[in-house]
Amino acid sequence: MGSGCSSLSYSSSTFIVTASSISSPSSSSSSLKLNPRSFLSHSPRNLSTQLRNQAPLRCGRSLEMESQKPMFDVEKFDDEFVQKLVYDALVWSSLHGLVVGDKTYQKSGKVPGVGMMHAPIALLPTPFPEIYWKQACEVAPIFNELVDRVSLDGKFIQDSLSRTKKADIFTSRLLDIHSKMLESNKTEVFLLYLLVHVNLHSLVTMSWFSFIHFACLCSQDIRLGLHRSDYMLDEETKSLLQIEMNTISSSFSGLGRLVSELHQSLLRSYGDHLGLCSERVPRNASTSQFADAMAKAWLEYNNPRAVVMVVVQPEERNMYDQHWQSSVLREKHNIVTIRKTLAEVENEGRVQEDGTLIVGGQAVAVVYFRSGYSPTDYPSESEWNARLLIEQSSAVKCPSIAYHLTGTKKIQQELAKPGVLERFLDNKEDIAKLRKCFAGLWSLDDPEIIKKAIEKPELFVMKPQREGGGNNIYGDDVKENLLRLQKEGEEENAAYTLMQRIFPKVSNMFLVREGVYHKDQAISELGIYGAYLRNKERVIINEQSGYLMRTKVSSSNEGGVAAGFAVLDSIYLN
Ligand code: ADP
Ligand code: MG
Repeated sequence: MGSGCSSLSYSSSTFIVTASSISSPSSSSSSLKLNPRSFLSHSPRNLSTQLRNQAPLRCGRSLEMESQKPMFDVEKFDDEFVQKLVYDALVWSSLHGLVVGDKTYQKSGKVPGVGMMHAPIALLPTPFPEIYWKQACEVAPIFNELVDRVSLDGKFIQDSLSRTKKADIFTSRLLDIHSKMLESNKTEVFLLYLLVHVNLHSLVTMSWFSFIHFACLCSQDIRLGLHRSDYMLDEETKSLLQIEMNTISSSFSGLGRLVSELHQSLLRSYGDHLGLCSERVPRNASTSQFADAMAKAWLEYNNPRAVVMVVVQPEERNMYDQHWQSSVLREKHNIVTIRKTLAEVENEGRVQEDGTLIVGGQAVAVVYFRSGYSPTDYPSESEWNARLLIEQSSAVKCPSIAYHLTGTKKIQQELAKPGVLERFLDNKEDIAKLRKCFAGLWSLDDPEIIKKAIEKPELFVMKPQREGGGNNIYGDDVKENLLRLQKEGEEENAAYTLMQRIFPKVSNMFLVREGVYHKDQAISELGIYGAYLRNKERVIINEQSGYLMRTKVSSSNEGGVAAGFAVLDSIYLN
């Protein structure tokens, strides 16, 4: 019962949104004109004018100086100096918990404290223009709001993914859960109608089954989103373009904060020698902001004995990132966290008559998914049963199935179509701000764009409906796959979206893995965390909640840190 969509039926403001969006005609597939600014015209904006307009820099150096020369030249520093920095960085990481499980230890993904390794890191923060940093921070609450609004429109989600459902079994299973919730929601609406418009006696005569649904409806008013919107700064057009919006398992809010602190610490010690100032690494409170949002959701749920349940993979080498959240919940908020796999939830879980989710004998107030985003997280029916059980309970789901689906690449592409944002947001300036960071996105049934992608595959990325890194298609493989799909028929087309390839600036950087530094040509991707908490009409939190820079060697297409492609990084504002 009651995913995020359930409140739709009786919350007046959200109802208006949905009613209008249902009545809007569904726009046709986006055309080549979708992102002329960045993709086709390649008209660079005048960066120096923009830089002149921004706030004065701290640390005394002039902006013009900063924008004219590279922030620091890695070639300038000899090996002995860099080794010293690396040594200090490794000590700091070990002492402060900037660690992951070491893959060479068998138990490192299961037993905390066994087989720890410093997280892969950039030795120094990556220069990032303040103007784009501000832009990315500014749109975070608007994206949070957008996700919430879209999640309430069950019909939009189902319609947008209807063709994908036929081509992709994983999306299809998620949509089945979403449909079930929409169906039970209709029952709830009916019961609510009886309650309000007929008489209270109806409630007394209602069956237990109906009562559970009704009770859940009341608690689904609480919606929690912990998102991360990822961007690359396109070098040619000098525009900040969104890669994707993560609405499930947005990782590294625990370790991301630590990388910023590590870089601040290194710059405090070596800043003079490097010519860098620690204050230009922005403060990053990602861990506590996410934990605070969970704590507030727990408070809204209002069961002092209930716990926060982190849904985890059976083996998790990135467990410390997650434990950081739990640690803040325990120490700052006195809230207990339990960790369960989906299989364990199926074994130990049940939903009480009043909708309470009980797992291992404990009531659960908030379910925080750090698993469940990939087909490999559902090796059997047990895991799907668990996902449905959680969804049907009154626990606050982070994310609900509707929030999860709203983060799919297909929905991202739908939202980029002309006129679609207007269905969900009222403020024109907000809409313009979001649209400004949309890259070109297309479905595969646009013949004009397919032709162009076959001719110039290097300008595109082909994406299946997957999360977690390592799934995208690049370069000649784009061409091969498009030609194959042309031969094989149209059904499979719906499993993919095509995206404009973004080309960020390539710089020489020091990347540290397994205790050793490498000097590499690298590119970076900025993730901005966003937290959103709402109870009925009351928006309790809607904020930008810290950041994460990820840097990878420029020859690598993929970007995941956990997937082994990138390192954790922070930014140095210039
Ligand atoms: P996932 O859900 O697997 O993280 P993403 O859309 O984030 O999928 O893509 C994975 C990685 O591929 C990104 O982190 C980024 O490094 C790279 N990537 C994705 N889209 C683009 C793009 N349009 N241009 C350049 N690189 C991209
Ligand atoms: Mg990603």
